[in-house]
Amino acid sequence: MKEDRIVTFDMLMQKILNGEKQYDFNKIKSAYDFAKKAHEGQFRSSGQPYIIHPLAVADILLDLGMDTDTVCAALLHDVVEDTPATYEQIRKLFGRDVADLVDGVTKLKKIPIFNRDQQQAKDICKILIAMEQDIRVMIIKLSDRLHNMRTLCYRPPHKQRNTAYETMNIYAPIAGRLGIETLHEELEDLSFYYLDPYSYAEIEKLLEINKQEREDFITLIKKRIGKKLQQLQSEKIITFAREPQISGRVKSLYGLYKKVFINHKDFNDVYDKYAVRVIVSTVPECYAVLGIIHDMFRPIPNRFKDYIQSPKRNNYKSLHTTVIGREGIPFEVQIRTWDMHKTAEYGIAAHWKYKEGIHGKDKMEDYLTWVREILEAQQTSDDVEEIVKNIKDELAPENVIVVMTPQGDTISLPVGATPIDFAYKIHTQVGHGMMSAKVNSRIVSLDYKLQTGQICEIMTSKAAGKGPNRAWLDIAKTTEAKSKIRSWFKKERREENIETGHTMLEKAFQRCRIRIPEEDYEKFLEDDMKRHNCNTLNDFYASIGYGGINIQKFMPRWKDLYYKLYCQENKTKEKLPIIQPVSKHNKKSRIVLDEIQDCVYKFSQCCNPLPGDDIVGFITRGGHGISVHTTSCVNYKAMLGRNNPEELERWLDVQWTDNQETAMQTSIEIIALDRIGLMYDITAILTEARIPIVHSSSRNLKNGNAIVDICLMIVNKTQLTAIFDRIRKVKGVLTVERASN
Ligand code: MN
Repeated sequence: MKEDRIVTFDMLMQKILNGEKQYDFNKIKSAYDFAKKAHEGQFRSSGQPYIIHPLAVADILLDLGMDTDTVCAALLHDVVEDTPATYEQIRKLFGRDVADLVDGVTKLKKIPIFNRDQQQAKDICKILIAMEQDIRVMIIKLSDRLHNMRTLCYRPPHKQRNTAYETMNIYAPIAGRLGIETLHEELEDLSFYYLDPYSYAEIEKLLEINKQEREDFITLIKKRIGKKLQQLQSEKIITFAREPQISGRVKSLYGLYKKVFINHKDFNDVYDKYAVRVIVSTVPECYAVLGIIHDMFRPIPNRFKDYIQSPKRNNYKSLHTTVIGREGIPFEVQIRTWDMHKTAEYGIAAHWKYKEGIHGKDKMEDYLTWVREILEAQQTSDDVEEIVKNIKDELAPENVIVVMTPQGDTISLPVGATPIDFAYKIHTQVGHGMMSAKVNSRIVSLDYKLQTGQICEIMTSKAAGKGPNRAWLDIAKTTEAKSKIRSWFKKERREENIETGHTMLEKAFQRCRIRIPEEDYEKFLEDDMKRHNCNTLNDFYASIGYGGINIQKFMPRWKDLYYKLYCQENKTKEKLPIIQPVSKHNKKSRIVLDEIQDCVYKFSQCCNPLPGDDIVGFITRGGHGISVHTTSCVNYKAMLGRNNPEELERWLDVQWTDNQETAMQTSIEIIALDRIGLMYDITAILTEARIPIVHSSSRNLKNGNAIVDICLMIVNKTQLTAIFDRIRKVKGVLTVERASN
């Protein structure tokens, strides 16, 4: 571990004076004075005065070449949070720009640590919104995080893990995606150190072996390339606008870790642990140098990557090739121009560092398009997990394929992209109108995985109103395509979506044996509707219909909720001793079921009343008749609890007819240790009691238990209670409950 170097204000001052960039020195000085005074008496976990932290952050930002306001904001970044200083004070003294930056960083700090996916999407979106408003906020945050990581050893172990985890998962990838390689690598290496100290030590140890030999080797290679380039120049075979620079570098520890431990490569087979870098002035010079290198050393097949033609998603450009020298040792050579080099090292920060240089406003936009895309996708998708996945995919700067249109335009897509993604990348209308796709002139299926170098052609329909297919949502890989498909469905087909969504939900409920009366849907789904910003059930159905909500992911939780709300209640009910036999004669003035024949009634599936149960009726909304519940039904109780007059009016007293002797279908669910003969024993009891079985089924649970569902014809509650008592005595039976029909 590198020791953290303490930065004093004098050192900061020297750096500003020695640098080429112009800074408003007085403004920085007064920001420093203000921060120093505000943090007076505060200390870091290391025991050092607090001010060393803002100074170190400012120092990192100076190295990145950030502007005066960013450096001031860095010095002030913790004062609003940790000291009595206010936004207004900062605004008056240093202007709105600095105050807003400080405010942005303070807000970012309040976003909690990412541990639960549900929360994560929302929180990452908050971070992305902050980034989109002023990317400097994120660059300050990354520098702040870097210094906190450098001094993480002073924090308690559990804080170390949390911070390292958060850094590895969110901040390091963001730095990588913004192309700020210096921050990216150090953040990764530091997180790696805390998350997996053993592997870290192992990699360090591996690098130590033969270190001198390898370094000598790289020095030799550098010399050899340099000499060759000079020779070719003096022979006037090639001319360089400016002397090429040749340097060597070691791959980052985490980079090596990924290759060795994640990709399971032998350390000796990692060819690019050392790389030689040649920096030249123009793109033609890059290719010329590549030719020379391939002439000097033997290139390893399939190891050449042209990131100039197909830049990485974070705008990284270079030529990479792996070659073997006379010594038989492979090594990587990276060739790039000075401009590419600036981008490779500083990414979006190059905009400030080399202001007069290559990075116009448009370049900045390039870095942020993905942020906008994710935020837009979040508008059309309500599926949090999906958003999290998208963000993680987006944050991985590598894994790009480049596919061509028949006209020769190149389209970059993530690995695994399909013709659907390709079509939507070309144009939204091309996507919506797509009929089929050809790859290298052959028709392919729409879930075909495109590969670099292929030519893809999209056939569209001329017919107006042709739209995407719902199934495409599962096939498409990119956030962009999915989001466009969803907005099409969202906009064009609301009625249809509601219907589809409703049916999908009902089917899913059926499959999972969740049986809730329709009038309870709203209550049951309340939390999920809120979470997905749906005000009405129809909104919720519509979201399911257009694919914004993937209900499959809800099912486990819904099942739990269902068991908790409905079945638990049944269980406790069963356990309560009901000593008094239910009398059928003391319920005058009630509506007798027989007498409401005009009005259709059904027995609700949440509590499944049986003759003998105390019952009430609910006039369903939408004219579906009366649904009959038991008085101990959770829904009935919940309604009493809500005490909503409009609702209360809908409940009726009802009673069983006196001669209700018709048996009713009743389902029971038995959970038992799975064993041979279980079903036989249960069936024997039922047969003996002359209880007709309508159907029965059983399935095994993962834990070795079995669930047996039996549908019986039961006359009344007393009969059922008696049967329950007998079944409970069967060997291996754990629970017997009334299920729903
Ligand atoms: Mn800080």
